Amino acid sequence: MADTIQLEIVTPDRMIVSDAAQEIQIPGKSGYLGILPGHAPLITEIAVGEITYRSGNETKHIAVAWGFAEVLPEKVTILAETAERAADIDVARAQAAKERAEARLKQGGADLDYRREEDALKRAQTRIDVAAKK
Ligand code: ATP
Repeated sequence: MADTIQLEIVTPDRMIVSDAAQEIQIPGKSGYLGILPGHAPLITEIAVGEITYRSGNETKHIAVAWGFAEVLPEKVTILAETAERAADIDVARAQAAKERAEARLKQGGADLDYRREEDALKRAQTRIDVAAKK
């Protein structure tokens, strides 16, 4: 069996990652999923969270939000609505998005879309956390 598995992360705009990994962690809908080369085929939904993978001696981190992952023994393809490599994250922008969402949640009110603000907060916090690992 090969000792790496190919990882491709694609968004509607572009290819974010195309790399050979020894080990991958993806944020599935019902928790994080660890994938090694030779993994059994599956398809899963991706939540908001962090994709972590090991390539050679490096561990890389990607912030991701929504989408699907197709896992095959030799390849993992992630089709994500948004995905950013740690080095590409604008931390000030994520911080501002976080503060906006927190302010709206704190303010409350009849027209508050709680779910939407919680999601925005989670995306922003994930971006801040991933950027800190670059
Ligand atoms: P904002 O309110 O700052 O736009 P958002 O969570 O609403 O944040 P999204 O709708 O998730 O933004 O993403 C829109 C686009 O902007 C996507 O291409 C995403 O990759 C990119 N993006 C969002 N936030 C950041 C960030 N902090 N750094 C780099 N790219 C970002």
